[in-house]
Amino acid sequence: MRKALMAGNWKMHNTTAEARQLAADVAKACRDFDDREVLLAPPYTVMAAVADVVKNTTIQVASQNVCWEDKGAFTGEISPVMVKDVGGSAAIIGHSERRQIFKETDELINQRVRGALKFGLTVVFCIGETLDEREGGKTFTILEEQIRKGLAGVAPEQTKDIVIAYEPVWAIGTGKTASKEQAQEAHAFIRGLIADMFEKNVADQMRILYGGSVKSTNVDELMAQPDIDGALVGGAALDAESFGRIINFQK
Ligand code: 13P
Repeated sequence: MRKALMAGNWKMHNTTAEARQLAADVAKACRDFDDREVLLAPPYTVMAAVADVVKNTTIQVASQNVCWEDKGAFTGEISPVMVKDVGGSAAIIGHSERRQIFKETDELINQRVRGALKFGLTVVFCIGETLDEREGGKTFTILEEQIRKGLAGVAPEQTKDIVIAYEPVWAIGTGKTASKEQAQEAHAFIRGLIADMFEKNVADQMRILYGGSVKSTNVDELMAQPDIDGALVGGAALDAESFGRIINFQK
C-alpha cells in the first residue's frame, strides 16, 4: 500500500511571519491520519521557521531545489546538508518553473537528484509536458525522456527515496486541471516506465503525485485514480483552509 503524500509548494511566497502562521494553520488542519503524509516546501529563507513550527507534528519540510554538493563555490545554491540542518528532509527537483524560467536541463536536474539522494534527502522529482508537446502528441516521449535522463545513474536501492510528481505545464497555475482520465493515463505510463527501468516492485512502491491546479473541488476524483498517490499543490497550498480541505480529501 502506498501512503498518500499531500505536498504544498509555496513557490516564492511568504515572509517569516506569514510562513509561521500558514504552517501553524496547516498543522491544525491535519487530522491524526495514518494513511497520508503532509509535506511543505517553503522558500529557503523560511524553511527553518516552518520546521520549527511543525516540529512536534508529522508534517515534513522540503526545499524547492537543491545543489548536488555538500558545500563549495556555488553562489546562489543551497546544499542537501543545509536543508537537513534547518529541519528539512526532502527537496523538490526539476520543477517546470526551474526548467522553463531558469533553463535547468535534464542533465543538471539529474546531478541534483543524485546529489540529494547521496546526502539522504527524499527527492520529489517533477516532470511534465507543455501544451505544445501534448497537442503535438509528444506527451509520453517527453515524459520518458525526462524520467530516463533525470533518473540516470540512480541505483535501485535509492528509489525508495524518490517520489515522482507529474505536473503538466499547461495545468500549472492556469486553473485548467488535467482530467482524471488524462492524469491517470500519464501516471500509469510513468509507473510502467519505472517498472521497465528498475523492477516491478520498485514501480509498485513508488509514489506518483499529480500537480497542476489541484483544488479542494477536484482532489477527491484525482485521488480516486489507482495510480495517483498524492498531490503537489501550488496556489491552493497558500491558503490553510483550501490546503486543509485538500489534505483531508475523501477516499
Ligand atoms: P498550482 O497548484 O498553482 O497549479 O501549481 C502547481 C505546482 O506547480 C506545484 O508544484
